[in-house]
Amino acid sequence: MYIILILLSNRTVMRQLFSVVLWLTVLQICAQSDVEKISNTISQSDIMAHISFLASDALQGRETGSQGLESAAAYIMSTFLRVGVDTMVGYGDFLQLVPFNEVSPPDSAIIRIGEQVLSLPNDVLIMNGMAQRSTMPTMYVDHGQAEDIADKDLRFKIAVSNIGDGVNQDVYGILEESRAKRQRFIDAGAMGLIEIYQNVRTPWRFVKRLGQSKSLSTKPVGDKRTEQFPHLWISTTDSIAVISLIAETTPVRIEMEGLTKAPLPSDNVIGVVPGTDADLKDEYIIYSAHYDHVGIGPANAEGDTIYNGARDNAVGTSAILALAEYIAQNPMKRSALFVLFTAEEKGLLGSKWFVDNCPVPLDEVKYCFNIDNGGYNDTSIVSVIGLTRTEAEDVMQQACNAFGLEAIEDPAKEQGLFDRSDNVNFAKKGIPALTFSLGFRAFDQNIFKYYHQPGDELETLDMDYIERYVKSFILSAINIGNSEQNYFWKEGDKYYEVGRSLYGH
Ligand SMILES: [Zn+2]
Repeated sequence: MYIILILLSNRTVMRQLFSVVLWLTVLQICAQSDVEKISNTISQSDIMAHISFLASDALQGRETGSQGLESAAAYIMSTFLRVGVDTMVGYGDFLQLVPFNEVSPPDSAIIRIGEQVLSLPNDVLIMNGMAQRSTMPTMYVDHGQAEDIADKDLRFKIAVSNIGDGVNQDVYGILEESRAKRQRFIDAGAMGLIEIYQNVRTPWRFVKRLGQSKSLSTKPVGDKRTEQFPHLWISTTDSIAVISLIAETTPVRIEMEGLTKAPLPSDNVIGVVPGTDADLKDEYIIYSAHYDHVGIGPANAEGDTIYNGARDNAVGTSAILALAEYIAQNPMKRSALFVLFTAEEKGLLGSKWFVDNCPVPLDEVKYCFNIDNGGYNDTSIVSVIGLTRTEAEDVMQQACNAFGLEAIEDPAKEQGLFDRSDNVNFAKKGIPALTFSLGFRAFDQNIFKYYHQPGDELETLDMDYIERYVKSFILSAINIGNSEQNYFWKEGDKYYEVGRSLYGH
C-alpha cells in the first residue's frame, strides 16, 4: 500500500505504470487468443483418433523393423499430407532411411583363464566378433583409457580392462564407452578386448538379459578386422584372481561362435513447415517424438501379448501430429521441423542417426523440443525432463498454466531420464534439448503398472488430462518458435560450452 501511494504521487511513474499494465493486457490477449486458437484447431477427438490408431492391436506394438511400425510410419506420412506439412528437400516421401542391421547373439562362448572357465550365458556376454578358437597372451590395462595404454605395446595381445571409464555409472554411458574402447584397442593393434563387469550400479543379470536379446546396429558390415575383433564382457565372483592371472601374463583361450547380422532397415519420418519471418525462417526448431515401441512380448495375467505403447509413445507421436496440424495452419516465424524417430526403444538409435545425418546444418537448429512418456501418476502437472536447464523454463511454465497444469522438473533424477530419451543426442551436439512428459511425482508402482506393459492401452488413459497436456505442449512449442530470442542452455549446464561452440558464441 505504501509503495503504491508513492507511485501515484509521481506522474512519470504513473505513465510508466500505465504502459506496463497496458502491455501486460496486450500480452494476455495474445496468450488468450493462442489458447483459443489451439482449442479451436485441435479437439480431444482429434488427439484420440491418432492414439487409437497408433496404439491399436493392429500395429502389434510397433517394434522397429516390424510391419506394425511401417503402418505407423504410413499413418504419420498421410497425416502430414492431409494437414499440409511439406517434405524436406531430399526426403520427398517424408522418410529418412536408417540402414540398421539386426545383430543376433551366438549360443555359445567359453573363456579359459588359468583354471577359471567362464561361459555364455551366465558369465560371458559377446559385444563383437566372429567365430573363433584361439589362445593368446594378455595384458591388463586398468580402465583402458587412452592414458592407461599410451606406453603399452598391445600388438598380438588380448587386452583385459575394467568396465567403463571409472567415473560414469550409467549403463548407457558404459555401453557407449565400451564401443569407444573397442575402437581404441583396434587402433592400438590389440587382438581382442575383455572387460570385467564389476562396480557398476546396474546388476549383471539385467545386462546379461540385454546381451541375450537381438540388437540393432548401424555400423556398416565390411571392415573385416573390426568384424572379427573379439570383444567380451565377463562377470566373475573372483575378479581379483582373474586380474592377478593376467598380471602374470597367463594366456587366455577364447572359443566362441560369432554374432550374425542381417539388414533390418527402418525409417525416421520428417516433415517441415517453413517459417514466415524473413530473418528467422532459416532457423529451425525440431519437434520430435519416437513412434516405435517394444512390440510383442511375454503375456500378462490376462493373456495379452501386445505391448501397445499408448503412453510410450503414441501420446507423444499424436502430440507432434496435432502440433503439425496447428502450425501448418498457423506458421511460425521460425521453421518447424517435425521428426518422428524409429528405434528409440533399441537405444535411442533413430535420433542418433538423425543428428549424424541431419537434413539441415546443426547450427541452424536452435532448439529440440522432444516429447516422450513413461506414464503418469499426477494429472495436475507436466514433468519436463530438463525444465530448469534451458531458458525456455518460463515459457513452458506459462503454457502449462494456461491449461490448468503446472510444469515441474524431473522428479526422478535417479532414473537418468534426461539421458534415456532422444533429446540427449541433440544435447550432446550442443543443441538445447529437453523432453516434455506426462506428469509423475516419482517413478513408482503406478508408473510401472503400465510402463512397457501390455496394459499400456488407450482405454486406460484419462483423455481430459491428455488433451490439456497436448495443448500445453502445443502452446509451449509455438512460443519457442515465435519468440524474439532463442532459448539457450542455462549457464553452467553440462552442455553449455558445447552449445556455445556449436553456435560460435
Ligand atoms: Zn519406452
